[in-house]
Amino acid sequence: MTHTEYQNAVELLKKYSYHYYVLDDPITTDEEYDILYHKVVAYEHENPAHILADSPTQRVGDVPQDKFDKARHLSRMWSLEDLFSREELETWVNRITKGYGDVRFYCEPKFDGASLNLIYDNGVLVQAITRGDGVEGEDVTQNAKTIQSIPLSIGYAGRIEIRGEVVIFKEDFEKINEERLRNGESLFANPRNAAAGSLRQLDTRITASRRLVFMPYGIGANTLELKNLSERMEWVYALGFRNPHMTRACVSAEEIETFYHEMRVERDNFAMLLDGMVIKVDAIAVQDELGYTVKNPRWAAAYKFPAIEKLTTLKEVIMQVGRSGVVTPVAIVEPVDIEGVTVERSTLHNFDEIERKDIRIGDRVIILRSGDVIPKIVKVIAAERDGSEQVISRPTRCPVCGSELLDEGALIKCQNLSCEARVVNSIIYFASKQCLNIDGLGDKIVEALHGAGMVHEVSDLFGLTMDQLLSLEGFKEKKSRNLLDAIHAAKGCDCWRFINALGIEHIGEVASKTLCGAFGTAFDTATREEILALEGFGVEMVESILEFGRVNGEKIERLRSILNPVAPVKVEAHDNPFKGKSVVITGTMSVSRDHIKAILEELGAKVASSVSKKTDYVVYGEDAGSKYDKAVELGVKLLTESEFRALSSLPNEAAASQGSSVEPKYSLFD
Ligand code: NAD
Repeated sequence: MTHTEYQNAVELLKKYSYHYYVLDDPITTDEEYDILYHKVVAYEHENPAHILADSPTQRVGDVPQDKFDKARHLSRMWSLEDLFSREELETWVNRITKGYGDVRFYCEPKFDGASLNLIYDNGVLVQAITRGDGVEGEDVTQNAKTIQSIPLSIGYAGRIEIRGEVVIFKEDFEKINEERLRNGESLFANPRNAAAGSLRQLDTRITASRRLVFMPYGIGANTLELKNLSERMEWVYALGFRNPHMTRACVSAEEIETFYHEMRVERDNFAMLLDGMVIKVDAIAVQDELGYTVKNPRWAAAYKFPAIEKLTTLKEVIMQVGRSGVVTPVAIVEPVDIEGVTVERSTLHNFDEIERKDIRIGDRVIILRSGDVIPKIVKVIAAERDGSEQVISRPTRCPVCGSELLDEGALIKCQNLSCEARVVNSIIYFASKQCLNIDGLGDKIVEALHGAGMVHEVSDLFGLTMDQLLSLEGFKEKKSRNLLDAIHAAKGCDCWRFINALGIEHIGEVASKTLCGAFGTAFDTATREEILALEGFGVEMVESILEFGRVNGEKIERLRSILNPVAPVKVEAHDNPFKGKSVVITGTMSVSRDHIKAILEELGAKVASSVSKKTDYVVYGEDAGSKYDKAVELGVKLLTESEFRALSSLPNEAAASQGSSVEPKYSLFD
């Protein structure tokens, strides 16, 4: 790198940082940023005399924004040195053990959000400040007070700074973006930006509505006597802060490496994004001796996980037609490897979103993929355009059947009920796990059956013959027999499966169960008033059921006579505290949530998916999130799994099977 290249790189990094820290709207991936950053570090290492004072290696974060009052931290906040490989880890560990012999390292998740410093005095939260440049940040106290996992008071009278990361659950991030999509607002690029942007809202009500979560990771100014970081963190959790649960003391690079791989496996199971593992020297005395560089503590490092955001090129946009006729644009991109998975396509949501982001074919784009965050294009790098990019126009004809599309703005729909895509997708849905659960009837087979003209609608499945199946490519005697048996086995299904499989808009599994419980298989004879009286049913749902019944009366009748669905025999549950009550389950339990749900249903409870004033109980497990917070807010009675078991007179399975306390799982999707 020449000096001019170095200067340019510093300028570019400053620009990236401004967009990332100040605007919460990055214009490149962390990976690209890190690569350039490391080139700058290498140059500065070779040419220490030429280091620019405003190089990003010389400062933490960025200048605080003007819109909030500025506030000084009592003690400095830091960034972290990054490690990207086992070799870098070993060098780092050796550097410390060389000087200090046997050192214990405290390892914990690196949550990806926005740093926040909380100052408590006399047991009361007096100030909350963003990291800013490490010395001075933005005073976001009012906003922090809306975050349920930040205690407003603690049982400690001394003045203390508690530091942590403000994050947003992946699930909440998806929900916020869905809502923004509906409202025609631009989408957040990723959960980190959503968390940082939500924390720095001038309107506190917006912050409050975003369900932010505070994960503590350290202590700033303090007068504590505890000698190890691990003890201090236990003390912090005991004050009422959230515990990340996955922490471990390690004594060698090898142990750290093992734990790092365990954490990577668990990465997707965390409710929030993790971008690595943080390794810290446990003994405070050693930390103090090691001290700091201009930017990082020498006693801590971030061992980064592989990137989940990559730069790629948009090659093409194809249209998918779902069973309801909605046309969804899907991006085909230059394949990129993201955490061992080759990503070639990603959702583009809808055409309004394409227009808002001004996505064009040929664009360089940032794509995000993380376990349960659906691969998506989060950003276009407009600066890299050369003029050859093509604008994507809204389709006017169905890409599958050619019929005219209905353009409703955000949604564009194919109205043709016999459109092949609609038919095939509704059969796939009909056979899926949450509907009739027909084993072996996957996408490819449905397409083959439809393509061969054997199945035009779901009821045709039940007329399939052995000879027909044998005539299909790849079907031998055994496979054909299994498929026919699986289709046959759907007969006599639970009534709710029958209702769910019809694919009525707005009616999912929970609503199907309620309908079935109230009206049995003859749900379509219920009146508007009767349905509206059911818990959880709004006008939109009721209209959807009535409209479906009007248009598809014959189809319902035909399927009912083929399937002979069985309505649940109402066995009166014995008297118990949950009978007739509305219960919500959240968090990770010793057994699956479905299991707890089944127990509750047997006890005569209604298991709802969201907390409202009508909820009687919330049964929560490890790492319960927004539903727990909502229950606290509404004053709904909260029960731990053990309390629930005790109340329902169930044996405590976890205790019974493991003999001791339950090992918490790290997963949690609220
Ligand atoms: P960082 O995010 O890599 O690490 C430091 C921060 O991690 C701390 O300040 C704290 O907020 C957080 N953290 C989370 N868990 C922690 C824990 N257990 N203990 C201590 N801290 C914990 O550092 P940074 O200085 O905020 O940002 C640098 C990184 O940001 C770069 O490596 C790059 O990936 C990214 N970045 C990207 C762009 C872009 O344009 N895409 C621009 C600037 C920075």
